[in-house]
Amino acid sequence: MVAAFRTAIDELEWMTPETRARAREKLARFNVKIGYPEKWRDYSSLEIEKDDLVGNLMRAERFSYRRMVDRLGKTIDRGEWGMTPQTVNAYYSSTMNEIVFPAAILQPPFFDMNADDAVNYGAIGAVIGHEISHGFDDQGRRSDGEGNLRDWWTQTDDAAFQQRAGRLVEQYSALSPLPGLNVNGRLTLGENIGDLSGVAVAYKAYRRSLDGRQAPVIDGFTGDQRFFLGYAQIWRGLYREDALRQRLLTDSHSPGEYRVNAVLRNIPEFHAAFNVKPGDAMYLPPEQRVKIW
Ligand SMILES: [Zn+2]
Repeated sequence: MVAAFRTAIDELEWMTPETRARAREKLARFNVKIGYPEKWRDYSSLEIEKDDLVGNLMRAERFSYRRMVDRLGKTIDRGEWGMTPQTVNAYYSSTMNEIVFPAAILQPPFFDMNADDAVNYGAIGAVIGHEISHGFDDQGRRSDGEGNLRDWWTQTDDAAFQQRAGRLVEQYSALSPLPGLNVNGRLTLGENIGDLSGVAVAYKAYRRSLDGRQAPVIDGFTGDQRFFLGYAQIWRGLYREDALRQRLLTDSHSPGEYRVNAVLRNIPEFHAAFNVKPGDAMYLPPEQRVKIW
């Protein structure tokens, strides 16, 4: 995935050569954490009592507060994790310039040892690509490879980025999952860019892994089709109407349905894989497709 992202940086048309060089530099300094921390956090001083939910919560809060205060003035612990290993999630940290994948996300539908590469690249590959791209989006541009606040883009890059991002904002703002309530394309921009870049770069990585070989057809699906199916499967879900309403107003991620459909219609290889034609629900004319990474 990192090698594929490096290629994506090299091939990027809209970024100036000097900024591309800085992007390469930042990628080279990326740190990766997978599974669980090297050193376990010591919880022995935290008292947990059976039948005392409120007390447990208060003691846990106090424990965590003291831990934070204790760190003041001390050197940074680069081995620290912002999530527990049993959390099904992943993150990019701009201050550490690192991507982190807890053990719990390394299971189906995200990652399956028994699935073929196409499915895994489409699923966990797209998640990894999503997190990497956070290092290079409208937030990630503000910090460098060492995690220092320093905007490393030129105004020319910014203008080119805003032009593409603006089209993505329009696409998402037109989506209406509930009558009278649309997706907020501005609020969700960073995450939508992450989704779009994640799939695009994971696809590159998948093709790279084939190294010129022909992907096998499995259960009647080509490698490319399985790649996109693998991606679609990670965002299957249902919302109650109230929950969806709340999320549309507050969540920086788009609803699962659009994390798939609004992303894939921008990807030329998706159209080719399923022979999507004008008139099909997922069809988007080439000139309207947005490519950021
Ligand atoms: Zn994200």
